[in-house]
Amino acid sequence: MASIFTRIVNGEIPAATVYEDAQTLAFLDVNPASRGHTLVICKQDLPTLLDLPPDLLAAVARSVQVVARAIMVALHPDGVTIVQNNGTASGQTVPHYHVHIIPRWEGDHALSHWKPGTITPDELRELAVTISARMGTKDVA
Ligand code: 5GP
Repeated sequence: MASIFTRIVNGEIPAATVYEDAQTLAFLDVNPASRGHTLVICKQDLPTLLDLPPDLLAAVARSVQVVARAIMVALHPDGVTIVQNNGTASGQTVPHYHVHIIPRWEGDHALSHWKPGTITPDELRELAVTISARMGTKDVA
């Protein structure tokens, strides 16, 4: 079954579109964390970052920058948070690759914060080695 975002791409569901090119589409989130909260998606119906070929990933990244620049000019936020979920455990609710652009204003508390003090420096180093050992590999196994 087509994802809800594919239905937006196909024009079956309306969306407040802010940008479009051949491979990507950007539209406002219906449940915004802040004013101007925008989603950038790849038009192709692929679930997560792990599924995208590099050229498509680059196309989305380019669109994120284009849209974020436009938001900075249009809304004058103090900053912008870029976040992206992969899999339900991460908070992904729509299984169609997308990046959140969330304009931020000083003191807005628009997002809950990361958790300081939950990992030691040694654990960090060990984790970094584990991840970097898999750099350039595609399989999740
Ligand atoms: P996720 O939780 O998967 O990272 O983000 C999905 C986002 O899509 C949520 O922030 C949610 O508000 C947004 N969303 C879900 N359905 C629709 C829709 O039909 N239209 C728009 N514009 N946004 C949607």
